[in-house]
Amino acid sequence: MKNPFEGKEVWLLTGSQSLYGEDALAQVAAQSQQVAARLNQSGDIPVTIVWRPVLTDSEAIRRAILEAGANDAVLGVITWMHTFSPAKMWIRGLEALRKPLLHLHTQANVALPWSTLDMDFMNLNQAAHGDREFGYILTRLGIQRTTVVGHASNEDVSRRIGTWTRAAAGWDAAQSMVLARFGDNMRNVAVTEGDKTEAEIRFGTSVNTWGVDELAHAIDDVSEAAIDTVVSDYLGSYEVQPELLPGASRHESLRYSARQEIALRTFLESVGATAFTDTFEDLGTLRQLPGLAVQRLMADGYGFGAEGDWKTAILVRLAKVMGYGLPGGASLMEDYSYNFEPGAEKILGAHMLEVCPSLTTSRPSLEIHPLGIGGKDDPVRLVFTADPGPGLVVAMSDLRDRFRLTANVIELVEPDEPLPRLPVARAVWQPAPDLATSAAAWLTAGAAHHTVLTTAVSLETWHDFSAIAGVELALIDHDTTLRRFEHELHWNAVYHRTAQAL
Ligand code: MN
Repeated sequence: MKNPFEGKEVWLLTGSQSLYGEDALAQVAAQSQQVAARLNQSGDIPVTIVWRPVLTDSEAIRRAILEAGANDAVLGVITWMHTFSPAKMWIRGLEALRKPLLHLHTQANVALPWSTLDMDFMNLNQAAHGDREFGYILTRLGIQRTTVVGHASNEDVSRRIGTWTRAAAGWDAAQSMVLARFGDNMRNVAVTEGDKTEAEIRFGTSVNTWGVDELAHAIDDVSEAAIDTVVSDYLGSYEVQPELLPGASRHESLRYSARQEIALRTFLESVGATAFTDTFEDLGTLRQLPGLAVQRLMADGYGFGAEGDWKTAILVRLAKVMGYGLPGGASLMEDYSYNFEPGAEKILGAHMLEVCPSLTTSRPSLEIHPLGIGGKDDPVRLVFTADPGPGLVVAMSDLRDRFRLTANVIELVEPDEPLPRLPVARAVWQPAPDLATSAAAWLTAGAAHHTVLTTAVSLETWHDFSAIAGVELALIDHDTTLRRFEHELHWNAVYHRTAQAL
């Protein structure tokens, strides 16, 4: 996938005021440039922090924030009140804010210079004071932001700014995302439905449907030479089942899968889409439900939702963007079956075919098996087990008056025993705080069976994303109790209904 951070930047806006005089303001400028330089040296932030001239009056503040808003390269804005910056000066600017905001509460020095500390030092280094003034006006204006406290040389600070930057990149990607649906939702399913117009208002994401015949025509147009290239990639990348090898009995099915992959990729590029859905109930003249093709496109950064589930396709694409360059992966996932044995409770997740191989570092097996649903030819698919380790599942529900994200902290584990008869990729996990609480909370939240499972994107990043988007995030983690979670849902319902304009 294209690097979502390439050519992007975050601006550092430093607040002060003209009363300090030119000498002091020159020090403010030099010290804020050092903050930007330190953050850029950390390696924790996937874009460049761009230092901007120190702001000392209302008009300059308004101009700087308008410029940031109009600049497509700017993912977000970091503000720091190095000295005291009377915050009424910030009102007009903040009212024009169109980018995610991080309030960095820092200062130039790590230690207080106890023995030499005088009033000149105090007057120059008073972010403790200035940032409180700034926090007040942000709260008074109701401006959503992430607040980070500490010295720029502190790894916790640069890492936290990095996770926020990733959320801002997710927001940036959502704002221009085009999602192509082939066919509608699986018939009669409720939770995969939703308000596509609201999705564009809330996230900026354009969700539209194309007839599956258009994809079928694109499949017919793929050249044999293009198929040869992709098939040789398959043969080099996976453990290929013998009957799929060139000259063997099922090789034609593998070539047809390559044809689907090329056509899907070409079609999505032609409409500028970075996410898509299909449905086994509407395949037109397609000979098989795309399995391997979807897995390969997800691995290449595309969002995907099965059975027309465009909301999960958005989440998968967001996870691909926000986790870009980090170890781990992200995939469409579906809670399938439980192990209810006391003390060994776990969830088995999988899908009919479409689990992204970014969840494994092992070499997937490329296989063909019948699909007991949909009445089409046997589809080719990658089979593997997701790597053990920490992860998250995130779902999106449309509650009619708003979207709700529900997230569960999970620990991926090895299956208790081999799964020789399961012909699909799968993940096995223990949900926090335990299966009974997790599942009860998940059901109480009305969260879906489809999720994005990610081992790359942190909870903090999802939290920041939900705050930027103004969308509820119901979190199930190690601290969750069912009673408290039910209360949170009630409070959230009141908050989100009240926070929306009438
Ligand atoms: Mn499904």
